[in-house]
Amino acid sequence: MKKKYNAQTERLMDLMIHSIYTNKEIFLRELISNASDAMDKMYYIALNDKDVKFDHDDYYIRIEADKDNRTITISDNGIGMTEDELVENLGTIAKSGSLDFKNENEKSEDHEIIGQFGVGFYSAFMVADEIEVLTKSYKEDEAHIWKSKGADGYTIEDAKKDDHGTSIKLHLRENTEDENYDEFLDEYRIRELVSHYSNYISYPIKMKVNKKRPAADSTDDDPKFEDYTEDDVLNSSVPMWRKNKNELKEEDYNNFFKQRHFGFEDPLAHIHISVEGVISFKAILYIPSRRPFDFYNPDKKSGLELYSNGVLIMNKCEDLLPDYLSFIKGVVDSEDISLNISREMLQKTRELEIIKKNLEKKVLAELEKILKNDREKYEEFFKNFGVVLKSGAYENYGADADKLKDLFIYPSTKRDSVTFAEYRKDMKPDQDLIYYANGDSADEIKKLPQIKSFIDKDIEVLILKDAIDEFVIKMIDAYDEKKFKSISETSADEKDDKEESPEYIKNMKELLKDEVVEIKENKNLTDDAAYLSSKGEVSIDMEKTFKNMPGNQGFKAQKVLELNPNHPAVMKLKELSKDDEKFKSYTNLLYNGARLLAGLSVENKIDFVKEISKLM
Ligand code: ADP
Ligand code: MG
Repeated sequence: MKKKYNAQTERLMDLMIHSIYTNKEIFLRELISNASDAMDKMYYIALNDKDVKFDHDDYYIRIEADKDNRTITISDNGIGMTEDELVENLGTIAKSGSLDFKNENEKSEDHEIIGQFGVGFYSAFMVADEIEVLTKSYKEDEAHIWKSKGADGYTIEDAKKDDHGTSIKLHLRENTEDENYDEFLDEYRIRELVSHYSNYISYPIKMKVNKKRPAADSTDDDPKFEDYTEDDVLNSSVPMWRKNKNELKEEDYNNFFKQRHFGFEDPLAHIHISVEGVISFKAILYIPSRRPFDFYNPDKKSGLELYSNGVLIMNKCEDLLPDYLSFIKGVVDSEDISLNISREMLQKTRELEIIKKNLEKKVLAELEKILKNDREKYEEFFKNFGVVLKSGAYENYGADADKLKDLFIYPSTKRDSVTFAEYRKDMKPDQDLIYYANGDSADEIKKLPQIKSFIDKDIEVLILKDAIDEFVIKMIDAYDEKKFKSISETSADEKDDKEESPEYIKNMKELLKDEVVEIKENKNLTDDAAYLSSKGEVSIDMEKTFKNMPGNQGFKAQKVLELNPNHPAVMKLKELSKDDEKFKSYTNLLYNGARLLAGLSVENKIDFVKEISKLM
C-alpha cells in the first residue's frame, strides 16, 4: 500500500525533483556518508553489546553501476533499518537532521538550501526518478524494500537479503538537453566524485572495475589480452590527519571539512597539529567561516570527532576544548587513548586533559595570527563567533579572561574595530580610563546626551553591542592598568559634595527618593534636559540584561538623574515652588523622559501620557 510522506518531506522532495542545482553530484557524498554513519552505529552498538562483533576490516561500502539498466547502487553492511525505522527515517523529514524548516518564511533559493543543508538522502531525487532501498536491520531476520518514485509517496514490502545493511538503488533519470545523468554510470566519473567528496571516509569504498591482463596464451611475439573484473578501493586509506602537512593543499583541507559535514562552505582557517610526546596525537581543527544554522539551538551538541588510532570512538567529544571554543570543528586522533574506554571514564583521563590544553593553546595562537595578519578575516570571524569567545572571559569567574582579552575587538566612535591594545596605545596623554558605551552603532551612541564631552575632547569610546559585553569588561576590570568606565556612569569629578545642592534639586530628590540615588546638574548637556547615569557595579544596561535573564534576581542600577541647568524645562522647574502641582508633574516628566532615553520602560505609562496631555 502506498504511504504518504509528511508535508515537509513532500515539499523537500518537490524541491529536489525540480532542482536546477548545478552540483547534483553531491547525492553520492550524501549516500556514502549515510552508509558510513550506518557502520559507525554498528560499531557503537558493538562497544556496549558483547554479542555484537565488529571488526573494522569486514565493513565497506560498495558502488555498482549498471549501464544497461541505468542504475547506480550504494550498499553498506551497517545497522540497516526495520520497517518502522524506514517509515520514520525516510518518510518524515523531521527525522532527518539535515534540514530545519524553522525558517519557513524566509524565501531561499533552492540551491541555497541545498548548499547550506546538504539535504541528505532526498538529494538522490535530483538524479533519480525511482529509488529502491533494500535493507535489513541487524536486530531482525526479515528484510524490507522501500520504493518511491517521488513526492506522491512510497511503498514498503517484505524482501530477502542475506546480511544486515542497506542497499540503495537509484534509477537514473532520462538525460535531457541540459543534463547528462549517464555520467553517474561512468567509472572514471564515480572515481572522481569519491576522491573529491568522500576520500577520507574511514571505510573502504569498493567498486568492481574492468581491467585487462595478458591472456594465458599470450606470448612476446603474439601479445593477447583478456578482460577481467576486480574490486578497486576508490578512497584513500590513509586518514587525512596522518598525512604530512606539505603533502596537502588548501583544497584538501576544505574538501575534508565538507566531507565530514562540518559545514557547507570553505572554512575560514585550518590548524593541522601533530604532537609527539608523553601523549601523542594528531588533529585537524577548523575555524568555520559561518555560523551553522542550528548554532543557537540549545540541544545541539558541539565537540570534536575523537579517534583512537584511526578508529572513531566519539562523534562529538565535548571535553577536548573549552566551551568558549565550542564553534571549532575537527578531528583528533590519539593512539594514547584506549579504544575501549567508556565515555564516563574518558572525561576524567589525564590524556584528554593534556590534549585539551594543547588544542586550546593552538587555537588561540591561530586566532592571534589571523588578527595580526588579516584583519578583515578576523572581523568576519568575530562577527560570527565573538560572542562565544567573549563568554569565555566571563565564565569560570574570569579565570580565562587574561588569555582572551587581546582577542577581543569592538567598534568604537572612531573606527570599525579596535583591540584594547590599540585603544590603549592611542589614548590621550592625560586620559586615565578606557571609556565605553552600550549601543548598536556609532550613530546611536553619538546621539546619547552624555557623549558630547567625549567628542569635544576627541576621546575614543568603545561601543558594546552584546548584552554580555559589559559583564565581560567588568570581569577584565583593567587593561594595562587602565580601568574601564561606562560613559553612562556618573563622573565623580563633576559632582561637588561640599557645595550645597540648589533648592529645586533638594525638592526633586524628595519626590524621587525611591527612584534615584542622586540628582545633579551637568553643564556638559546640550540638547537634552535630563539623562540617567548610574553609580556602582550595576549599570543601567546591566539592569536591562538582568531583567531578561531567567530567574531575574532584580538587580537594579543605582540611578543618577543628571539635569541640564540651561535647558528651558529645567529653568522652568527652578522657578516653581515645591508645592506647585506643576513641580511634581515636571519632575516626573523629566525623570521618565530620562528613563526612556536610557532604554528603560516607564513604570506607569498611563499616568505619564496623561501628564503630557495635561501640559499640552
Ligand atoms: P541525516 O543523515 O542527516 O540524518 P539523511 O536524510 O541523510 O539525514 O538520512 C535520514 C536517515 O535515514 C538517517 O538519519 C538514517 O537514520 C537513515 N538512513 C539513511 N541511509 C541509511 C543507511 N544506509 N543505513 C541505515 N540508515 C540510513
Ligand atoms: Mg545523511
